[in-house]
Amino acid sequence: MDAIASEIVVCTKCRLWKGRRKAVPGEGSPESQIMFIGEGPGGTEDLEGRPFVGQAGKFLDALLSDTCLARENVFICNIVRCRPPANRAPLPDEIQACTPYLDRQMKTIQPKVVVTLGNCSTAYIFSRANLRFSSITRVRGRFYEKTILGMRVTVFPSFHPAAALYSAKYKEQLTKDFQTLKGEVLKRQLANPSS
Ligand code: URA
Ligand code: SF4
Repeated sequence: MDAIASEIVVCTKCRLWKGRRKAVPGEGSPESQIMFIGEGPGGTEDLEGRPFVGQAGKFLDALLSDTCLARENVFICNIVRCRPPANRAPLPDEIQACTPYLDRQMKTIQPKVVVTLGNCSTAYIFSRANLRFSSITRVRGRFYEKTILGMRVTVFPSFHPAAALYSAKYKEQLTKDFQTLKGEVLKRQLANPSS
């Protein structure tokens, strides 16, 4: 896991490296049973080199603690690891260049559950799982048992936590989805890293 992170911090495989202050390799327990995947670093993440530490991150922290999950016991990362200019969505060639890092981290962690936050990560993981992706609104809040990279994984898509910052409706639905997730976390005892 550390080797992957040290490759990411010096990576120049797509144009996004030019605008970054710090790349954001992702963080958490390598023994985590559950992984959270966002879109890409924002301003605060780019400054600190850590995922979900800005406003959206504060909301994710609250959702995690309501779900009986501790940040240090899960793994949190993004589809792209360098901040897109003006926080635009990552482009297809940037996603293609960067997701080999995600794939390698997934193979290292072997998570039982993968939570995708927002359109971008849900579209990528659904394509990996041979699932048809229509829109996050249609697919969110349900569990999908699938094989990804040769591993049996339960995929759980929801909205991106940033959506909750501008829409009360999204905030409510995210909160509801994380209550659904909590049921699974408690049932399968995913809150603690596997030893
Ligand atoms: N939004 C994301 O998608 N990822 C982060 O790390 C922060 C905000
Ligand atoms: Fe490399 Fe990913 Fe950064 Fe592009 S976004 S430079 S592929 S680490």
